[in-house]
Amino acid sequence: MIPLSLPDWLLFFLVANLSMVFAATLYYSVRLHRRMPRHRAAPFIFRCSVCGHVYMDRRNVPMAECGKCGAMNENTKSF
Ligand SMILES: [Zn+2]
Repeated sequence: MIPLSLPDWLLFFLVANLSMVFAATLYYSVRLHRRMPRHRAAPFIFRCSVCGHVYMDRRNVPMAECGKCGAMNENTKSF
C-alpha cells in the first residue's frame, strides 16, 4: 500500500474553502429569509356606525360593507 498523506497546507486550504462556502451559503440564506417581502397589503380597518362591528378589508376602497348588518362605513385607520 502506498501511504497517502495530504500536506498540511493543502488540508488547510480545503477546510478554509469549504468553511467559506458554508459561511456564504448560511449568510445569504438567512438574508434571503429576512428580506421576504410582504405578500399582502396592509388591511384597512372599518368600524360600523350602526352596530359597532370592527372589521378589516384589504381592498383600497373608501367604503366597505359591514359583515354583520350590511351598512357601508368609511375606514377609520390604515396601517
Ligand atoms: Zn354593522
